[in-house]
Amino acid sequence: MKFISTRGRAPSLSFADTVLTGLASDGGLYVPESLPKFSQQEIAEMAGLNYCELAFRIMWPFVAEDLSEDEMRGIIERAYANFRHAAIAPLVQTGHNEWVMELFQGPTLAFKDFALQFLGQLFDLLLKKRGEKVVVLGATSGDTGSAAIEGCRHCENIDIFIMHPHNRVSEVQRKQMTTVLSDNVFNIALEGNFDDCQNMVKASFADQSFLPDGRRLVAVNSINWARIMAQIVYYFHAALSLGGPHRPVNFSVPTGNFGDIFAGYLARGMGLPINQLVIATNANDILHRCISANDHSPQPLVHSLSPSMDIMVSSNFERLLFDLYDRDGAAVAELLADRRAPMKLDELALEKARSLFSSERVGDERTVEVIREVFESTEYLLDPHTAIGMEAARRARKSNAEPMVCLATAHPAKFAEAVDTALPGTSVPLPHHMQDLLEREERLQVLPNELSAVHDFISRALA
Ligand SMILES: *Cc1c(COP(=O)(O)O)cnc(C)c1O
Repeated sequence: MKFISTRGRAPSLSFADTVLTGLASDGGLYVPESLPKFSQQEIAEMAGLNYCELAFRIMWPFVAEDLSEDEMRGIIERAYANFRHAAIAPLVQTGHNEWVMELFQGPTLAFKDFALQFLGQLFDLLLKKRGEKVVVLGATSGDTGSAAIEGCRHCENIDIFIMHPHNRVSEVQRKQMTTVLSDNVFNIALEGNFDDCQNMVKASFADQSFLPDGRRLVAVNSINWARIMAQIVYYFHAALSLGGPHRPVNFSVPTGNFGDIFAGYLARGMGLPINQLVIATNANDILHRCISANDHSPQPLVHSLSPSMDIMVSSNFERLLFDLYDRDGAAVAELLADRRAPMKLDELALEKARSLFSSERVGDERTVEVIREVFESTEYLLDPHTAIGMEAARRARKSNAEPMVCLATAHPAKFAEAVDTALPGTSVPLPHHMQDLLEREERLQVLPNELSAVHDFISRALA
């Protein structure tokens, strides 16, 4: 299968090259040239498969030209071996035809493990076959860093450097990154803010001459196609458990960069009956304004109780725009020439989007109320991101006869502050494997906010 850029001017690439490339050379994102399609009969026959076998069936058409069946099965088995629940993505019923899909059973307690555990294994195998070693460099304000580190810690062909703003991430988040003591894992605490970290990463990608010969940088952010692809699987998994494909199943997704919900859109494109996808946003509501009022204008970032959704402009939205504009790369390039400028969609494109997507905005105050209300009525404890998804689902859902699945993107123990505000005195224990997290030995390097200091550190670490 070939992959093409959403801006239409970069060369098309194989799956392996797409995964190791990141952004296309024309500034666009890679998408499959055409989407594999399963018939209703083929989907019905997937019912009852375990998660790993289902993952193989769904992803195989994308990778068949680059990997053997055994290689792909091995990657999947290793990726999901460390999940704490045998179902990998278990469902819990919270109301009439309303379900929560727990995507936080991976090692770092957030749904990003689904993609990054898979990506680490995939990278390692592709690099071994090429006889290459790479350097993963990323900036994090929280969840992504720990999931990337956990995904890469056992990879022989990767050294990973993750930068976080010094003293500006929570203690649990920092410890999840800095207590991984593998020789190939390096944590940099930058004396700056998250933007400084991101700028440092961008500048490093632009000029990689500080790296030793034969090494190059690889990105693990959510524009990586393999991350999106791995997330398609759990939409099938949930639907098959709830009567799909014989009846439609709908989803509500706490949304930041639009990667997770875009995977749901792809599942539908591959033949899974889905009638409604709810985009749930916090106060950073650019996508909600876009869908509800055709107002896609960036606003200053607001810090919320759901920090993993605090995003000004969602990068993966470009992949949806490409389809809404009939895959016209030039039109997308024109629309997004200035990512920070206000954007209006054509009426036709907007209509198409609205036929599938609904959107809601849920602020901090309501988020806390929902955590409390749901706990008081069901004793089920939501994290703040999931609470936003559930509230959005309840407001936006069009059919009570069709199942609605709310994606639970993080474990409540990860966001104890919001839980404590909602239910004072309720302590949420960390899962068993993390009970001693706060006592574990840490390793990190504090560095000044200077590019040369960061580059010196990286090149010495690799020497
Ligand atoms: C990353 C993240 C999100 C947002 O997912 P996107 O794919 O960026 O839309 C939501 N909730 C949690 C807990 C996350 O870590």
